[in-house]
Amino acid sequence: MVIEVGYVSRYAFFKLHHSGKECYTLAMMKLTWQPVTLQLKTVFRIAHGASSQRHNVLVQVEDGLGEAAAVSYHGETPERIMAWLESVQLDGDALHLAHLLAQIPAGSRAGRAAIDMALHDLWGKTLGQPLYRLLGLHPADAPPTSFTIAMDAPELMAERAAASGMPIIKIKVGGQQDEAMVRAIRNATSARLQVDANGGWTRDQAAAIIPRLAQFDLQIVEQPLPAGDIEGLRWLRAQQFGVPIFADEAIKTPADVLAHAGAVDGVVIKLAKSGGIRPALEMITLARALDMQVMIGCMVETSVAVTAAAHLAPLCDFADLDGPLLIANDPYTGLRYHNARLLLPDAPGLGVAATIANE
Ligand code: MG
Repeated sequence: MVIEVGYVSRYAFFKLHHSGKECYTLAMMKLTWQPVTLQLKTVFRIAHGASSQRHNVLVQVEDGLGEAAAVSYHGETPERIMAWLESVQLDGDALHLAHLLAQIPAGSRAGRAAIDMALHDLWGKTLGQPLYRLLGLHPADAPPTSFTIAMDAPELMAERAAASGMPIIKIKVGGQQDEAMVRAIRNATSARLQVDANGGWTRDQAAAIIPRLAQFDLQIVEQPLPAGDIEGLRWLRAQQFGVPIFADEAIKTPADVLAHAGAVDGVVIKLAKSGGIRPALEMITLARALDMQVMIGCMVETSVAVTAAAHLAPLCDFADLDGPLLIANDPYTGLRYHNARLLLPDAPGLGVAATIANE
């Protein structure tokens, strides 16, 4: 047996010969990762709980960058994500994107998303084109992003909303002071308002509070009921409060999009839930076919994951891509903002680069 080891472009290849006859070729891609602790600018309180830090995992496949957000309500932890990463082996050429994506093993959704992002980044870098261009998208079609105001005292939330100067504010609700919070923000800004209850209301609570909040001219009510209560959402929507209802937490797969057809007006798609860009594209296409609106969202993530999501924004009606604006120590730059407008980077792949402090 003869084993040849060499390097071609960005990946190592190994050829195994047996009795002078090539039996198979392996090109194992180099995969590395490191955990990162993100410091939030303000304590982030939503219906699920409060936090001032988030723990994500940054992933690299050759020169491609990805990120896994350890979202606790998905049962993800950095340790579980990293244990799953140990099981990943990618064999092939960066240009054969679908062939590589098909090799990502089952398991951690956030981990799958990170590998998928890194492979898309590497694909773009190899072709020398930004991802949005490879997808045939025009960055000017991206909708403006909302800016999230987490739960706090109503007057503090109103101050933050006004100080942000942002034209679309997403208000985290699902607590005891929902009406006071929305009223305070409405009085402090002329921004369009969305509310996100993160599943914090019962059916009766939602039916009582949504009409009261609707007086403040809401653009969207997101995840009013606990994830998975599809019949509850259908019942709520049938009451025609005049505010579109979107599902977020329960929308992880194309089957989830299908299951919510008719029960909601729109769905929130996030790479950390879908398992990456490719499944997110499938979900966007399906939602469109089912006449549902689409919001592209993010977790508390660095510019790596949020820029990856932003490349899909031109396909969506709404964007909630403010992650980098919420953290104080982003180790990367990529997506930029002109007020709420998303400015997609032109560099190849995702177009993200390490910040100077990180180099
Ligand atoms: Mg949400």
